[in-house]
Amino acid sequence: MAEWQIGQCKVEVVKGDITEEATEAIVNAANERLIPGGGVDGAIHRKGGPAILEKLRAKYTHCPTGQAVVTRGGNLKAKYIIHAVGPIYKDGKSGEAELLASAYRSALEKALELSLNSISFPALSTGAYGYPLEEASSIALKTVIDFLKEKQAPKLVRFVLFTDDAYEIFVKTLEKFKTELS
Ligand code: ADP
Repeated sequence: MAEWQIGQCKVEVVKGDITEEATEAIVNAANERLIPGGGVDGAIHRKGGPAILEKLRAKYTHCPTGQAVVTRGGNLKAKYIIHAVGPIYKDGKSGEAELLASAYRSALEKALELSLNSISFPALSTGAYGYPLEEASSIALKTVIDFLKEKQAPKLVRFVLFTDDAYEIFVKTLEKFKTELS
């Protein structure tokens, strides 16, 4: 595990399955149509139960890339699920970096609106959406670090990485930022 204390807040990088997380909210890597797919999205809906999709359908039909919507956590330990839509990676020159940063920021803003103290993120866009892990880890961590420095909330932001590869890259990127930015 790697971590960095930023004022009153902490960023953690752990390896695991986000559907097991007991932070107040977990973030889902959703798609614009909010239709459960594979990857982390499929796992969250399977374990969380059908109430999540029912709530999603009752309130929303669509969520633009770079934004996020919230439901309750169904059967999961987390009270809320923040469904954030990251970009599909094309060539890196189609606004992907801005959209990925925006997806993280939107999720953090939802956490603030709900006055949550803790939130867990997967590595948005790095599975089916094809975002290169190294670049995605820099954007994810930099966006969170900047947000925490500015707002001093939520108190705990945890990145839960599913694969060894993603975990090792996020740890390395966090260590790099600790050296460069502290
Ligand atoms: P996207 O469509 O945004 O790329 P994916 O779900 O395909 O979303 O992948 C996003 C990331 O989530 C990938 O790095 C994948 O390894 C990871 N992932 C898959 N299942 C889980 C899980 N249960 N917990 C945490 N991360 C997961």
